[in-house]
Amino acid sequence: MGLFACNACRYFFEADALPDTCPNCHLDSVLGSTDSGRRVSFPAVRAATEAEVKAYEEVGKAAQEERDFLEWLDSLSSYDLSNDEYHVALMLLHSFRTTPDLYTKHFTNDLLPAKKGGIEGWNAQAMARILYIDVKKSFTSKINQERQNAGTNDIVKVAAQTPPDSAANVLRRFRQNEITKIFRDPQNLGDIRRVDLEKVVLEPSDGYLRFLTEWYNSMA
Ligand SMILES: [Zn+2]
Repeated sequence: MGLFACNACRYFFEADALPDTCPNCHLDSVLGSTDSGRRVSFPAVRAATEAEVKAYEEVGKAAQEERDFLEWLDSLSSYDLSNDEYHVALMLLHSFRTTPDLYTKHFTNDLLPAKKGGIEGWNAQAMARILYIDVKKSFTSKINQERQNAGTNDIVKVAAQTPPDSAANVLRRFRQNEITKIFRDPQNLGDIRRVDLEKVVLEPSDGYLRFLTEWYNSMA
């Protein structure tokens, strides 16, 4: 399997061997000029350069990461989570969405013994506290950055202007209480501020620990 490029339409595609024509524009040759200005015809399709292969793989990897991340966000509804746990899970997933699995595993592994007693459990709580505070802080600054770039504080508008994996689109998933729902205020920084991290650190529910474990196990 190799990566090929079309000089006529700039299409990139994977194939077992170099084809005669481009699968996108169906041209077999393009016209160009030599250094001396002579018009010549050369094959439209060529093997991609090393730099092009690298760029192609980067784009594919980013797209896959975004798909995985959005799937995890959707799957949170299948766990029995308190509002605080749900919001911490959203921010955790967002914070680690582009982090290599190896590092994410290292962090989540430290959180897992949270239900066990003794030194191990105490350690897990200390690690969770540090991580959650950090994740909440960086999520808040990401929201501020996206609002600044979008030129508006309205989370609905920011979410519409940013990709599906943006912090604003994650904040749009925050649960709201009955009163804010009635007045239809969109989510804001107050919803992040109100997340009770300490409760998730000290009393993680079975549903939350199941989420952490399954997330951990999903990593390569
Ligand atoms: Zn083409």
